[in-house]
Amino acid sequence: MAPSNHLLMVTGGLDSTVHAYWSVLHEKNAVRGIYFNLGRPASPRERASLNRTSVALDMPIESVDLRGLDESFLGHLPFPALNAGEFDFVETGPRLARAVARGGFAVLLTTAAFYGHAVQTNRISLGLLDDQLAGVPGFADYLDQLSRSLQTLQPALPTIEFELPFASMSKADVIRRGLEMKVPFEDTWSCVRGGEFHCGRCPTCQGRRQSFADASASDPTTYEE
Ligand SMILES: [Zn+2]
Repeated sequence: MAPSNHLLMVTGGLDSTVHAYWSVLHEKNAVRGIYFNLGRPASPRERASLNRTSVALDMPIESVDLRGLDESFLGHLPFPALNAGEFDFVETGPRLARAVARGGFAVLLTTAAFYGHAVQTNRISLGLLDDQLAGVPGFADYLDQLSRSLQTLQPALPTIEFELPFASMSKADVIRRGLEMKVPFEDTWSCVRGGEFHCGRCPTCQGRRQSFADASASDPTTYEE
């Protein structure tokens, strides 16, 4: 049977939720999601967001238990890497922390490809934005190389193409697109902390708040401050 699934790497954040809504609305093929539970403070909130998206869109989202990954490296993994979203590449913190976090991200990509082959997909897409990709020059080339490497290892399996559909979009652009589709932004989670409300202070909260302002959209998020 020819591969027919489009697999989205999702986080429960604003961008990946818009990515899911957009894909389900515009794809002819089945859309699935994969989420990595790294056992970080925000993980329960992210999973709650994804469960709502999964029900709203009738879209299967696999939650992969990777809680042991960070824990196994405690004492060796730079601390800032433990408090980041997996797509954040740790923009703050020492250079080594950023480099190590990107190594962790490579684990997630190959795990997504492993799952992708299991569910017969030949497309995996990530809702990374222009400013995230600007911080990682050559990332699109890396994805092409990874695709070829996987093909070398698994010549009998379909080639998996990695896609970056939001590569030229800002978070404000994503918010505007989400508003057109009536995405329930209040159900999405961006904060690196896992409190009752978004903290309003961490870099991802600040980016979320600023992006609603940039999009001239009302922000439905409750912030602690
Ligand atoms: Zn926050």
